[in-house]
Amino acid sequence: MNKSLRILLLFFLITTVTNFKKGIAQHLLVNVHSNAAHLVVDKLAGCIQYETISSVTDIHNNAENFLGLHNYLATAFPLVHQYLTREAVNNYSLLYTWTGTNSSLKPVLISAHLDVVPIESASENDWRHDPFKGEIADGYIWGRGTMDDKYRVIAILEAAERLLQQNYQPERTIYFAFGHDEEVGGYEGAGQISALLESRGVALEAVFDEGLAVAEDIIPGVEEQLALVGTAAKGNLNLKLTVTGEGGHSSMPPLETPIALLSRALVRLHDKPFKPRMIPTTRETVNVLASRMGGKYKFAVRHYGLFENRILKMLAQDQATNALIRTKMAPTILEAGDKYNVLPRIATAIINIRILNGEDINSVIKHVKKSIADDRVQVEVFGKYTPPSPVTPTDTWLYAALNSTINKTFPDALVVPALFPGATDSKHYTNLTPNIFRFAPQVVNRESAKLVHNVNERISVDVLRKCIQFYENLIQTTCGINAAQKFVKKNEAAALPFGVNGE
Ligand SMILES: [Zn+2]
Repeated sequence: MNKSLRILLLFFLITTVTNFKKGIAQHLLVNVHSNAAHLVVDKLAGCIQYETISSVTDIHNNAENFLGLHNYLATAFPLVHQYLTREAVNNYSLLYTWTGTNSSLKPVLISAHLDVVPIESASENDWRHDPFKGEIADGYIWGRGTMDDKYRVIAILEAAERLLQQNYQPERTIYFAFGHDEEVGGYEGAGQISALLESRGVALEAVFDEGLAVAEDIIPGVEEQLALVGTAAKGNLNLKLTVTGEGGHSSMPPLETPIALLSRALVRLHDKPFKPRMIPTTRETVNVLASRMGGKYKFAVRHYGLFENRILKMLAQDQATNALIRTKMAPTILEAGDKYNVLPRIATAIINIRILNGEDINSVIKHVKKSIADDRVQVEVFGKYTPPSPVTPTDTWLYAALNSTINKTFPDALVVPALFPGATDSKHYTNLTPNIFRFAPQVVNRESAKLVHNVNERISVDVLRKCIQFYENLIQTTCGINAAQKFVKKNEAAALPFGVNGE
């Protein structure tokens, strides 16, 4: 199990990825007959041409690209823009409202993001196709944002466009929330959308966001693809450690310098890791996987109480599985001194901490201070704190609906709830619902996982097609199946905003 989980967990580090296993010829066979598929490929290609790189400091400098993309989407999805309400939130994010026929049902929110990460200047020449041209070649759409996360923006809107063409009207209100700064924390985008909804008194039934994905060929002995649904996410905190000294010439140093004290503090932290713990989500993951694996694993998991220590010890042996069972901390930035013969007056370190669900900022700081055990090391919070998410329950109709939707699109996949070690825009919606699902509808493998935020980011036509199918299904499964056709009599059709055509 250790090895299997380790391999599985390699895939936990990515947010969106694609499937390169199927041959290109097959994609073309599947799609060449479908005019709609060609159209939507062009829509994604056009979307890539807007260089919507997010920024904490100078977002207004990039207004042209974001506003250009807004206008582009309006042209590409005319029905959506005719029948849904669209609001620009904090200038650059978009909130669409598709009003349902039954106002007593709580709305569902589908979240994606418009922004992308920049192109590293060192890697510019390694791109086989210009990252912002949206070129279509070899069965793929190429460019920054194809995998993360513009394919989902396009797929969600295309799903709605197609449903509108079929005169679909949801019973339950649906929001599409597209943030403009997910890659830098999402505080100005999703954060503001969430605040706006809260100010309107909205409580959500569920949020569906990016996160984990369908992983294939990764567990020996498990033949199925695994559709990993992020039902919990770790928290994120940076602490700054500062030690101040007298400075002076390095030929006559005092007994303890800021660098020495800081180094000792870091070593103490390293030697005192947080205690291992199995949170309910990881327990669920292990349960489902063990049910598909060999006898001794099955036995150990079934008698968890007896084997708890042994299971935890096994998981702790590997850095990836270790991250699932405890709060992890790692120093990421060290700063002190700039001249070889001058004692620095200040030495600082930033510690990045990924907080396991069940702990919080206070318990973490307490552990850090206690481990360092030295008042000369000052500890303060650096930047924004994201608490660990609440755990999404899986014994709900929503999880069952998602499960069946995944099965429709990926019939070979086994759905597995899992802990997501990263953070996406969904962290901003925890005030509106306990039901947050972090799942990107695409198949990942070792190779494709590497392309996220990387050179030659690209997505296959087949993945895009499946993604549209997935959201068409998800909307119908969670917001009412063909409400218009089912409940509206012909003579009432004129009262609908879009009528009932094409009978
Ligand atoms: Zn993303």
